[in-house]
Amino acid sequence: MGMSRRQFLQGGALAAAGVALSGKPGEASVDSPEMRTKGAKSSTTICPYCAVGCGLIVHTKNGRIVNIEGDPDHPINQGSLCSKGSSLFQVAVNDRRLQKVMYRAPGSDRFEEKSWDWALDRIAQKMKETRDRTFKATEVNKKDKKEYVVNRTDGMAFFGGAGLDNEECYLWSKFSRAMGVGQLEHQARL
Ligand code: SF4
Repeated sequence: MGMSRRQFLQGGALAAAGVALSGKPGEASVDSPEMRTKGAKSSTTICPYCAVGCGLIVHTKNGRIVNIEGDPDHPINQGSLCSKGSSLFQVAVNDRRLQKVMYRAPGSDRFEEKSWDWALDRIAQKMKETRDRTFKATEVNKKDKKEYVVNRTDGMAFFGGAGLDNEECYLWSKFSRAMGVGQLEHQARL
């Protein structure tokens, strides 16, 4: 059987790829000694980005993450990951990742480092102040001009994210209603 010039070149390129992967002609192997996962401990977890909940395998060496990939045994994603999930290694191992609270005061031109306790207290204080200042027990309806009990604040809005699962969405909406917040949205709907 004859072989065209194109077929000959294609065959040569495949053979070269096999040698590059395995170090031996004709033996492409995923267990190459150069793999960064070789000898690493593997643990399973769930992608934190969205409520699809794809399964991940995290490889660690000496307590440091060396690789993150989709878990082929996970029933949701069966090893596949979207572009966000595929970038998780760069999120976990990244010198530029912020790991502390950075606060810029009103009017300031610089950020300052704060503790998590400080940030949570500040958020709670601001929510309380805003709620107290904007809370309405009743409101006159524009159409029938009658006064109705509303018990709400228009000074705040709550915003959920795709990382919330059903139970977390339930709690988030309950919390917003308890605060009197009527403007509750979800980022996946926008
Ligand atoms: S962000 Fe992507 S990889 Fe992560 S759970 Fe959602 S769909 Fe899966």
